[in-house]
Amino acid sequence: MFQDLKGRRVLITGSTLGIGLAAAEAFVRMGAKVGLNGRRVPADIEATLARLNALEGEAAFFQADVGTEQGATALVADFVARFGGIDVLVNNAGGLVARKKLPDIDTDFFHAVLDVNALSAVMVTREALPHLKASAQGGQSSSVILVGSVAGDVGGGPGAALYGAAKAWLHNVQKNWVNFHSADGIRFNTVSPGTIDTAFHADKSEEVKAKIGAGIPLGRLGRPEECAPAFLFLASHACSGYMTGQILNVNGGQFMP
Ligand code: NAD
Repeated sequence: MFQDLKGRRVLITGSTLGIGLAAAEAFVRMGAKVGLNGRRVPADIEATLARLNALEGEAAFFQADVGTEQGATALVADFVARFGGIDVLVNNAGGLVARKKLPDIDTDFFHAVLDVNALSAVMVTREALPHLKASAQGGQSSSVILVGSVAGDVGGGPGAALYGAAKAWLHNVQKNWVNFHSADGIRFNTVSPGTIDTAFHADKSEEVKAKIGAGIPLGRLGRPEECAPAFLFLASHACSGYMTGQILNVNGGQFMP
């Protein structure tokens, strides 16, 4: 399975940690050429690259803040300069920014949340579009994968209204792209994680996490590596070439549409 991912050029935004890094490792194990990205250069990036480059494929790091149009443009240009094109784009960068209840939300906070979660996906996808179209000329569809969230379906936790709404926005925006870019051979799908144990939940104690886990049908939080196969599946033309416009929930039964 996933053999067609060998040699595919995969750009994953926000992939120095957590779900993005686990996905990157899974793609490299399949022989893909993978671009890691972070807003800053992590202290352990050389060790991470050495670990990944000892596997089947290839990995390189590209620093860029994809919450800005300039950063998104630079990231795609740098990735293409290195690997010569893009076959798969994973718009994974995202986060809460902070938890703020409605009385505390101001314009700056609104834009900060929307920039990292929504603008990033639009700008990186826009820049990647000609490369994804060129990739699809080879007969295999190219693939854009958005990263949604259970918060996009149920509204997000305390102080996470804008985050949840931004994720719901992502769940929706791919529908238009499917309608107007399928002729280019590009598929658009979303991986929507439930509560996954990453730095995203660093503000919670183990006790709180256990409480959240107890409320999930599978009885625990998910692990980043448990999300990774969903990305491989949606990236692989052989596995999902007739799937587009879908949301794949990886959530332990937390939300059942
Ligand atoms: P994380 O905080 O562990 O990792 C976030 C990554 O994004 C890091 O590599 C960070 O460097 C990068 N990043 C953040 N802002 C960036 C920017 N402006 N430009 C470039 N890179 C940036 O988070 P995670 O839990 O792995 O989350 C990954 C994605 O999954 C996010 O979109 C998040 O919203 C989504 N998600 C997470 C959960 C969860 O429970 N962990 C649930 C649903 C959805």
